[in-house]
Amino acid sequence: MHKPMFSLEVFPPKRDAPVGTIYDTLDGLQGLDPDFISVTYGHGTHADRTATARIANTIRNEYRIPTVAHLTALYSDEAKIDEALEMFEHAGVFAVLALRGDYIDGEEPVGVFEHASDLVRYIRARKPDLKVFGACYPEGHIQSESIDADIEHLKEKVDAGATHLISQLFYDNEDFYRFLDKARAAGIDVPIEAGIMPINGAKSLRSMAAKNRTRIPRDVESLLERWGSDVPTLREAGINYASAQITDLVAHGIDGVHLYTMNRPATTRRIWRNVRPLFQTAE
Ligand code: FAD
Repeated sequence: MHKPMFSLEVFPPKRDAPVGTIYDTLDGLQGLDPDFISVTYGHGTHADRTATARIANTIRNEYRIPTVAHLTALYSDEAKIDEALEMFEHAGVFAVLALRGDYIDGEEPVGVFEHASDLVRYIRARKPDLKVFGACYPEGHIQSESIDADIEHLKEKVDAGATHLISQLFYDNEDFYRFLDKARAAGIDVPIEAGIMPINGAKSLRSMAAKNRTRIPRDVESLLERWGSDVPTLREAGINYASAQITDLVAHGIDGVHLYTMNRPATTRRIWRNVRPLFQTAE
């Protein structure tokens, strides 16, 4: 039996947030010993493009945790990507999660990198020592015509040099298992971590699900209906739901779990306390 990976994702605090915010998050995550923490990247006009590298540097050099930096392609040219890669290298990240990024209303993409695979190929050529990760979508990416077409493009991303995949959030494990079978049948043989996002609120979950075309299964719908206006109770139920989801995934022998912390360390700790023994299985 293999030991599943366990990783966490944090995002840089908003520009006007107090400086200590990220330290509160990272302090709260101390002792969890994840395989790595990844840091998201913002590419909108108002995004601070240095924030990812700064937070990655803090995680790597102050908290001594292996770090992955996200990077998006659509709104960058080669010079901007090179600049980001230099910052990431300086911060000591071991991998870059190469993403296309979402289109922003009213903003024209630069036109150099059209798909994530273009960025994967570029980073591999530019920085052969950096590992390159990619994103995948158990229910299909919202813009893909079908899951099969999406998996074909995913295979291109792996062939371009992505050595590890992290999935979009999903709430029905059966969707993940079906996707995994198809990905393996298509010859995608790199580790695939399951992305788990705990339920933090009814409104945020529904808008996230609509944005990503994530199916809300009946048992999650029941939680939202019963405790949608009672946030503390809904969050408790969400901790139980995420813990049960992870338990089932680990029982199925998946490669690993990537927990979207939403910078909420208390929730992350509670889930990890529930599932940690399952991740100790020896090689
Ligand atoms: P791609 O792999 O390029 O896929 C996008 C679409 O294009 C898919 O429909 C795919 O099927 C299609 N496609 C791919 N290649 C081809 C081709 N050759 N021809 C035709 N169609 C093709 N966003 C951020 O802005 N910052 C972040 O930090 C961030 N982190 C994320 C982390 C994870 C784990 C995930 C799952 C998503 C993250 N996102 C982030 C969101 C992501 O940027 C969006 O989901 C985006 O819409 C797609 O990015 P991608 O890298 O998956 O794109």
